[in-house]
Amino acid sequence: MPRTILITGGARGIGKGIAKAFLEAGDQVMIGDLGTQAAWNYDLASKSTLQEAISELEVFGTVNYVQLDVTDSNSCINAVSQTVKAFGNLDVLVNNAGVVGSGNVDVFKEQEWDRIFDVNVKGIFLMTRAALSDLRKSDNAAIVNTASIAGKKGSPGMSAYCASKFAAIGLTQSFAQEFASDGIRVNALCPGIVGTAMWLDHLMANEGEDAFQERMKDLIPLGRPQTEDDMGQAAVYLASASNVTGIAHTVAGGLEMD
Ligand code: NAD
Repeated sequence: MPRTILITGGARGIGKGIAKAFLEAGDQVMIGDLGTQAAWNYDLASKSTLQEAISELEVFGTVNYVQLDVTDSNSCINAVSQTVKAFGNLDVLVNNAGVVGSGNVDVFKEQEWDRIFDVNVKGIFLMTRAALSDLRKSDNAAIVNTASIAGKKGSPGMSAYCASKFAAIGLTQSFAQEFASDGIRVNALCPGIVGTAMWLDHLMANEGEDAFQERMKDLIPLGRPQTEDDMGQAAVYLASASNVTGIAHTVAGGLEMD
C-alpha cells in the first residue's frame, strides 16, 4: 500500500533527494516549497524550480507540489489539506525546509537570526501541528525532521544555524514522546555536508564546486561529501523502521560519529 509523504523544502537539494527515494520505494509524494522570489543570502526555490523538480521526479512515480511557506501557519494548514485532497491521506511528514546564515556574533543581524529560527525551528512546529490530526488517522505514521551535524556540535560563525539545529533535535525528542501513544514515530536526519545551494551559493560561494569537492575529500573520513541520494535512503529508513523513534541519525561519512 503506497504511503502519502509531504516534504517541505522539497523542490531541490536534500528535499528533492528524499522525494526521489520515497517515489522509488513506491510511495506518493507532495512537495511543498516557497515557489516565490524570497529575499535571502542566496536564492531560494522559485516557481520554476518547483516545476522543474516535478518534471524530474514524475518519472519515478506520483508526485505533485504545493506552494508553501513554513513560517506561515495558514500556509502550513493549506499544504496539508492540499495533500489530503490530492492523495486522500497523509502518512509521513518530512520537515526539511531550512535556511543557513553565517557570521560572527558581533556582526550577525538580528533579522537573520529571527529568519533562521522562523524557518528551521518554528516551521517544524507549525507544520507538525497542521499535520497532526491527519497523521493520527494513519496506521503507519512518521515524522522526519532534517536537522544536521550542526545540531550535535557548535561551530564558530555558525551560532544561529547550529542553535536552530540543536532545537530541531530537541523538538524531535519531545514530539517522539508526545506522539508515541498515537503511533507516530518522530526522528531527525542529520546530514553531514551535501553540495547544495547552502554550500555552493553561500558557505563556499566564492570558491566553486571543484574546491568544495577537494575540501570534502580531505575533511571527511570516507573521502567524499554526502549526496542527496544518501539522505533519501536514510529518510526512507527513518520513516519505515517500526521500532525507532526519537533518534537523531547522522549520515556524514564519519565526519560526526555521535
Ligand atoms: P537548499 O537550500 O537546496 O534547500 C532548502 C529548501 O528549503 C529550498 O528549496 C528552499 O526554497 C526551502 N525553503 C526555505 N525557506 C522556506 C520556507 N519558509 N518555506 C518553505 N520552504 C522553504 O538546501 P539543502 O541543503 O537541500 O537543505 C535542506 C535541509 O537540509 C535544510 O534543513 C538544511 O538545514 C539541512 N542540511 C543541509 C546540509 C548540507 O550540507 N547541505 C547539512 C545538514 C543539514
